[in-house]
Amino acid sequence: MEDIPVVREWVDNEIAKYREQLGINKTVYVFYNLEDMPKDAQKDKTVRSYQKYAAVTCVADSNNKKPHLMIIDLEWHKSFKGLEDTIAHELLHVRFPRLSHGEIFWKKLGMVLMGKKYKRRKR
Ligand SMILES: [Zn+2]
Repeated sequence: MEDIPVVREWVDNEIAKYREQLGINKTVYVFYNLEDMPKDAQKDKTVRSYQKYAAVTCVADSNNKKPHLMIIDLEWHKSFKGLEDTIAHELLHVRFPRLSHGEIFWKKLGMVLMGKKYKRRKR
């Protein structure tokens, strides 16, 4: 996908939609390149290799004031659908920070993409 305002705006709307659906209260800041991220996030190895993963999210601690930080590689994505899958995937990590990729994760992701709602939580 091209990094143009209409795509960024679409991403913002999807983030808002899935945050609401997953009951995520904290702000999720989205970035499209390393240079725009806070310095300490830029130093993170996983964050630095975001182009390998399509997107990477730094999930904030539930008891501090920091927001969640997400970096998305728009060019990695071929369609809005693919971008939507990535956003739902990343926000599922935010909602369930201890849940790693596995059967339960993929099952939850499928249900979220089909519209499953979760109750609000602090994080
Ligand atoms: Zn993941």
